[in-house]
Amino acid sequence: MIHQVTLIRGDGTGPELVEATRRVLEGTGVQFEWDVVEAGVDIMETAGTPLPDNVLASIRKNKVALKGPITTPIGTGFRSVNVALRKELDLYACIRPCKSYVGVRSRYENVDLVIVRENTEDLYAGVEYPVDSAEAAQIIGMANGKIRQDSAISIKPISRTGSRQIVRSAFEYAVENGRKKVTAVAKANIMKYTDGLFYEMAREVAKEYEGRVEYDEWLVDAMCMQLVQKPENYDVLVMENLYGDILSDLCAGLVGGLGVAPGANIGADTALFEATHGSAPKYKNLNKVNPTALILSGYLMLKYLKEDEAAARLERAVSDVIAEGKYVTYDMKPDRNDPTAVGTAEMADAIIARMQAG
Ligand code: NAD
Repeated sequence: MIHQVTLIRGDGTGPELVEATRRVLEGTGVQFEWDVVEAGVDIMETAGTPLPDNVLASIRKNKVALKGPITTPIGTGFRSVNVALRKELDLYACIRPCKSYVGVRSRYENVDLVIVRENTEDLYAGVEYPVDSAEAAQIIGMANGKIRQDSAISIKPISRTGSRQIVRSAFEYAVENGRKKVTAVAKANIMKYTDGLFYEMAREVAKEYEGRVEYDEWLVDAMCMQLVQKPENYDVLVMENLYGDILSDLCAGLVGGLGVAPGANIGADTALFEATHGSAPKYKNLNKVNPTALILSGYLMLKYLKEDEAAARLERAVSDVIAEGKYVTYDMKPDRNDPTAVGTAEMADAIIARMQAG
């Protein structure tokens, strides 16, 4: 089967990383028909926008996209392309696996957990009122003295629909990937209505999976301590947008940082795969940065496309190359100035060679 996939090259170091990842994915033997499209600051001048219509049209048609990082233009009036894509395509689930690989320097070993973050609501809904505004005054008036007069206000909407759908994504991910437990993380002892509703929906969805996937709950503060003390005990963690944002960076840190942190943004029938890191523009065109995070995002894409055997081979090759520590980029060497570090393209070559050697 030939998979039709939208390939967004991105900007900064994006095109180099995307090219390395494309070659590795093709090296698995899986067949792709790439629809290569441009988004980001490089196309902004000619297209008049960092997100031309043909990009969304292509993803809507193919339903699967692999994306290089994109710089958020500052002072141009354009919002982040990354946020716009998630919003326009209703990619409500952000999946971030955090796994220890031998050879990646980190304080922890044997971490293998997955953060499932809600992507569309919570304090990120963009409903905010500035200090001294009429809207803020109205809300302050309704709060019976609980809010100081000189407050700015951000609203935290948590819906039944959003909560059910993100928790269901977490359980489906667990079933499809042979995971044992889903942990819902919130702060329902304080936010009784919003986080309380999140737990209520999580418990309801968990019942559908009883006997197949375990379910438990942690308060977010206690969860942070658990993760720092014994991260190897956790499996799939599901949470609202803000807690998910913070805990995914915490967990990326547990396994060695941004260079190895892949990601997927998933909606009802569309998925977009991208690294957690940004466009690292200072390294543009230097063939220097680490392609692992985007290649592992490609691995997640293979799994999404049900190419499980190729996905397993790809992950093994990445893991072997990192463990060997020879053909890796500067950031994976014990000394960042190590002259034996290889470039983005050469690390991809080593992964392809390893896959082909079996
Ligand atoms: P960044 O992730 O680009 O860089 C942060 C640090 O990590 C830098 O020191 C960089 O050198 C290093 N780094 C990043 N990726 C690396 C890699 N693959 N290998 C080795 N080192 C790597 O974050 P930033 O500088 O805050 O953001 C740059 C731009 O990217 C901003 O415009 C930001 O909005 C955007 N961004 C885009 C995405 C996305 O496309 N999804 C995500 C985050 C940030």
